[in-house]
Amino acid sequence: MAHRTLIRGGRVLTVDPHLGDLPRGDILIEDGAIAAVEADLGDLDAEVIDAAGMIVVPGFVDTHRHTWEAAIRGSAPNATLDDYFVEILDTFAPLYTAADVYASNLAGSLECLNAGITTLVDWSHINNTPEHPDAAIQGLTDSGIRAQYAYGSANTSLAAYWFESTIAIPDADVRRIRDTYFASDSGLLTMGLATRGPGFCVDDVVRAEWGLARELAIPITVHVAMGRLAGRFGMVKQLDGLGLLGPDTTYVHCCYFSEQEWGLVRDSGGTVSVAPQIELQMGHGWPPVMKAIEYGLKPSLSIDVVTTAPGDMFTNMRAAFAAERARVNADCWQANVEVPATMLTARQMLEMATINGAGVAGVADRTGSLTPGKRADIVLIDAGINIAPVLDPVAAVTLAADVSNVDTVLVDGIVRKRGGRLLADVDAARNLVEQARDRLLAAQATAAASAPRAA
Ligand SMILES: [Zn+2]
Repeated sequence: MAHRTLIRGGRVLTVDPHLGDLPRGDILIEDGAIAAVEADLGDLDAEVIDAAGMIVVPGFVDTHRHTWEAAIRGSAPNATLDDYFVEILDTFAPLYTAADVYASNLAGSLECLNAGITTLVDWSHINNTPEHPDAAIQGLTDSGIRAQYAYGSANTSLAAYWFESTIAIPDADVRRIRDTYFASDSGLLTMGLATRGPGFCVDDVVRAEWGLARELAIPITVHVAMGRLAGRFGMVKQLDGLGLLGPDTTYVHCCYFSEQEWGLVRDSGGTVSVAPQIELQMGHGWPPVMKAIEYGLKPSLSIDVVTTAPGDMFTNMRAAFAAERARVNADCWQANVEVPATMLTARQMLEMATINGAGVAGVADRTGSLTPGKRADIVLIDAGINIAPVLDPVAAVTLAADVSNVDTVLVDGIVRKRGGRLLADVDAARNLVEQARDRLLAAQATAAASAPRAA
């Protein structure tokens, strides 16, 4: 007989346009799939999770995170994007061992689950040796999260890898990883290619990497149009010139797109990931969520890095919401005109964090909404004292809740957090990631001591 779980009596925000919101709803899960969503399913022979007083939402989807940076969390609190290239990519990344990547990916994925993020795009540009990708994938696997593992470059030197780089992602190893772990695209883990793109790489490398992804039928993810550097590259225009735009590509940040580039992304069927807190804090530019919507795109949200900002979706929903409204209000004040009637809404933020993210991560067929037939990636938000009383459950989730309210988390029908506690060996994961931190700090001190002093 099928294993059945019944989530009973919550306020259900399905984020499915046909099902809408249920003031009281039951969700039946059978063998990891959502079997039914109804106002009242009655008494069923199933394991019951009581959701009374809770708000039930689809698991959040983080469409771009460098999970390997969990071991150096908070190491660059005041960094701009330019500083980050030096302090993180040029200083710490070359020192990472495979064990450091494993520890970071395990701890980082558990951090996601704890915060109600059930799907993660792991943008893994830390493949210093062929052992590194295996370690990254093992960390994701051991946490139980749903993830797209996006294979990225090594990070052995800033000059070699990030300025007109002539070094492509190692073709043979990408094929090995595809064959070894991703024979099917229907598993909990899927694969992508995390590319650097024009400006960061010479055209031959760009062509090779795009070609490899397409030959292997895996999606592409690339940072574009951020900060004073890449903001001037015109990367999408360059990709168009190379004939490489396509619906398999996710563009991350997009802060300084020209109107032409927005049109090119839309017309080619590309997707968008915006990392609001990081973009605001580190100088990438304004988080362009409304701009993407105006172009008919469905923007998603991402955490990016925990070296400089927190790793949860609540922070990012609020950062984008506040920033967009601040920008519009400021522009209207400058022009001395009324603010437009249609501004970004709280419900749009919830959609970005769930269904839009699933679309961007290429898994909208299996997650992103509480729709019968999809896999059961579900979060129960406890209406604690920072949320109660609930008048508008969408506002409660997007504008009041935080990680402390994430009571229960299911991924693929498996309970990963219950009663506010992760069902994982959190102490062991914390020990590992603290050991990785210690090893990295020691290695960095050694490297600094042996480096030639600046004049
Ligand atoms: Zn990034």
